[in-house]
Amino acid sequence: MAIAIVKDEIFLKHNPGEYHPERPERLEKIYSRLEKPDIAELYKTLAPREATFEELTWNHAPEYVKTVQQTSGQHVQLDADTATSPESFEAALKAVGAQFVGLGAIFSGQAQHVFALVRPPGHHAEYDRAMGFCLFNNIALAAHYALKKLGLKRILIVDWDLHHGNGTQKSFYTSKEVLFFSSHQYPYYPGTGRVEEIGEGEGRGFTVNVPLPAGCGDLEYATVYRKILLPVAESFKPELVLVSAGFDIYFGDPLGGMQVTPIGIAYLARLVKQIADKHCQGRLLLTLEGGYSLQGLADSVAAVLFELAGRSVIPTDKLEEMEETDREPEVLTHVRAIHKTFWPELS
Ligand SMILES: [Zn+2]
Repeated sequence: MAIAIVKDEIFLKHNPGEYHPERPERLEKIYSRLEKPDIAELYKTLAPREATFEELTWNHAPEYVKTVQQTSGQHVQLDADTATSPESFEAALKAVGAQFVGLGAIFSGQAQHVFALVRPPGHHAEYDRAMGFCLFNNIALAAHYALKKLGLKRILIVDWDLHHGNGTQKSFYTSKEVLFFSSHQYPYYPGTGRVEEIGEGEGRGFTVNVPLPAGCGDLEYATVYRKILLPVAESFKPELVLVSAGFDIYFGDPLGGMQVTPIGIAYLARLVKQIADKHCQGRLLLTLEGGYSLQGLADSVAAVLFELAGRSVIPTDKLEEMEETDREPEVLTHVRAIHKTFWPELS
């Protein structure tokens, strides 16, 4: 079977607090949706392993890893909005290890596309600090694994979460081996992700930010991904595609201001799959980031899996509309002006 998910009960045990939006019910709702008969046959299930201390230091300061380790068995507030419960450290170790298991499955031919359905999320976590509900940077560690253990040289990270993936961007800001593409509501938390943030040194051009005003829906997102991500990927030719899949862009999300429906999300999945199929034998690993509407999470994850399985939920007329629309957010002119020297296909 070509599709796998990585899941584990431990991810339901990380609990940052009773009124916290990043709560266990998020994954409970996704897991129970994926057990329904219309979808349960479409994927196989993998169990995560724990990441080791050494693996975590590929992306994090050893002192910081120890700080998180010391929260084991305790409730600790690590950042204004990031807290642990007694099992959070174990969950965080397995959220990272889920990435490695997923990549192992992809590179051993067990699966083509893998979705790691984990908590805590990761894309805000920086080298030496927890941030924005994130402890360790799951997707950045996936990229480090691909560089170090699989010997890859060109990895594309696509971050469609509502928020900018500041931690991931910082991890590879000076690297030309990892191309970080992010679309995000701006100005908004965490404040980074301007178009002018393009990378430094050898990494110049390998960070592509598309900050968007609140209110963007399926057509605006389709345009951004078709007109910016596709041409950039066409030039970069990734050997692996990683996705920070956050579903807080969903129209009913309590933290977000975007208007994307599960149909629009399926279209984003369609495009990243298209990139992976064209350039790297379908090698695609998605990992769950944000998304705080329980219904939005269940519907969106299902829409992504249906799309990956070739059983698209996108109606034909909607697909045509998304493929032809010219509903360009204004910022794309600026993105092209800055990035066309690095990515000729953009001009
Ligand atoms: Zn988010």
